[in-house]
Amino acid sequence: MEFLKNYIDGSLIAPISGQYLDNINPSTGNIYSQIPRSDDADLQLAVEAAERAFPLWSNCSVTDRSAILLKMAAGIEARMDEFVKAESLDNGKPEKLAAHVDIPRAVSNFHFFATAIEHFASESHYMEQVGINFTTRRPIGIVGCISPWNLPLYLFSWKIAPALAAGNCVIAKPSEITPYTAYLLGQIANDAGLPKGVLNIVHGLGPEIGNAIVAHPQIKAISFTGGTATGQHIARIAAPMFKKMSLELGGKNPTIVFPDVDIEATVKEIFKSSFSNQGQICLCGSRIFVHQKIYDAFKQAFVDWVASAKVSYPSDPKAQLGAVVSKSHMEKILGYIDLAQEEGGRILTGGSRIILEAPYHEGYFVQPTVIEGLSNECRTNQEEIFGPVVTLLPFDDESEVVKMANGTKYGLAASVWTKDLNVAHRMADQLDMGIVWVNSWLIRDLRTPFGGMKDSGVGREGGWEALRFFTEPKNIFIKYA
Ligand code: NAD
Repeated sequence: MEFLKNYIDGSLIAPISGQYLDNINPSTGNIYSQIPRSDDADLQLAVEAAERAFPLWSNCSVTDRSAILLKMAAGIEARMDEFVKAESLDNGKPEKLAAHVDIPRAVSNFHFFATAIEHFASESHYMEQVGINFTTRRPIGIVGCISPWNLPLYLFSWKIAPALAAGNCVIAKPSEITPYTAYLLGQIANDAGLPKGVLNIVHGLGPEIGNAIVAHPQIKAISFTGGTATGQHIARIAAPMFKKMSLELGGKNPTIVFPDVDIEATVKEIFKSSFSNQGQICLCGSRIFVHQKIYDAFKQAFVDWVASAKVSYPSDPKAQLGAVVSKSHMEKILGYIDLAQEEGGRILTGGSRIILEAPYHEGYFVQPTVIEGLSNECRTNQEEIFGPVVTLLPFDDESEVVKMANGTKYGLAASVWTKDLNVAHRMADQLDMGIVWVNSWLIRDLRTPFGGMKDSGVGREGGWEALRFFTEPKNIFIKYA
């Protein structure tokens, strides 16, 4: 049995308490490694290491920082197969997905912010005949990065890369459910020549080591991605300490289909927006609004397509969906499918756990599920399920669908499907979402602001937004003599 380690002060070390947590392979239900159950003592070591490293790293030239981050990108790329296998073993996702999305994107995150920082400029404001203002943007100090299990290294690196590029020292905590690729990242950092103490990775439970990171007085900013309830809890601790916070939280995203679409082509795209990563992407559309005129035709084509999808073990090259991340998450998803039926929903396809052949017979596989007949107000359509479950809802006109689409507490992302650009513009304008895709889904340009409105979060990640978050602006005014 492998024992993972914390990465503190440039070394891979065991937790001081000697306590570990089980790490489970969701495709088999077997324990396959042990994760440090870190506590305040481990965090203190990490904070002290980061304090020692900060003067060197924050004053290191941007070009030198950039060069090290580019080496980290190259280091992951050179070990692509190992990272792909580790990510899908830990998470249950098809290896194909980890190979096309998760790990290449982690490489891009380091590459993007390594180069972005070389172009990051601050403002100056000239006051005619009075003087000049110029704004410096210095690193904050020690920052905390806490990430979830659904896109493990992808989201972990999405925070760490801009934080390091901007000159901060980082204490990072991956999800205890998917720690493995974060463990490998420590080795990558050392091989790339990242000075010791600049990046520290501590493993363990959210309410223990995660909470301790949020509450530590020396950690000046928290970048968090995870559930809305956890985000609220973090804000309650960090806000009175006046910490900077970026909170990327849950969603209940609408997919809106107008009657002028090519049904066959659109069904294939909406299958991806609904069920990629087993529906465990914060951006997946889980409420599919279809115009009355094509409701029946769309429903038939969609249900046929979903019913033919292959759910299989991660190394199966034909797998379209893999296992969901944990037993408790599978039970939560199945509980929502029961609730949908209690609320009057009809299951059109799916609805159950799948038992694969040994050695995967105890894995957490759930059929992709499509439900109709529910109101937008019911719990199934209001609460985030975060699994392979979508509902179909008919609509008659634009104003009705805007009202329903906006009618949850969330505001993360939407996709709109139509050939009519006027409709697309009107919809995009009226949707209370941080991200709107038209005739597409999950096409990402790392320069754009990423994040949600309402209970989907506070702040934006990506591009200059991330570099601004991880720096402290100071305005300096010089009066003309
Ligand atoms: P979660 O909130 O349970 O955990 C996220 C991280 O926070 C984990 O590392 C966890 O250990 C840690 N944590 C838990 N309790 C904590 C506490 N009290 N203090 C500090 N840290 C704590 O979320 P999850 O189940 O891992 O992820 C699923 C959720 O993440 C979904 O709601 C999904 O929508 C959301 N998500 C949002 C985005 C986005 O960009 N908006 C992206 C991916 C996932």
